[in-house]
Amino acid sequence: MRTRTFLLAVDRCCPSCGRLRDAATSLDHVNAPKPGDFTVCVDCGVLLRFTDDGLEPTTSEAMLEQCDRGVAEVLLKFRDNLLQRTN
Ligand SMILES: [Zn+2]
Repeated sequence: MRTRTFLLAVDRCCPSCGRLRDAATSLDHVNAPKPGDFTVCVDCGVLLRFTDDGLEPTTSEAMLEQCDRGVAEVLLKFRDNLLQRTN
């Protein structure tokens, strides 16, 4: 799968672990993240959603309902692999 990493215009902190998030990798390698897009914190594995000026926690159910199914499945698999590595 092709990806592209974007520096974020606004630094954001993960609301779960507090780590600074200043970049994000896009699955479509074209579009920078925008408010409403889903992501995963690479430090703690929590599911997140971009807001206008930060990140907010979200759930796998919300992601599966409101996100492209293929993208949601990739993000959830990434999250599961990340959590297995850190536990
Ligand atoms: Zn985190």
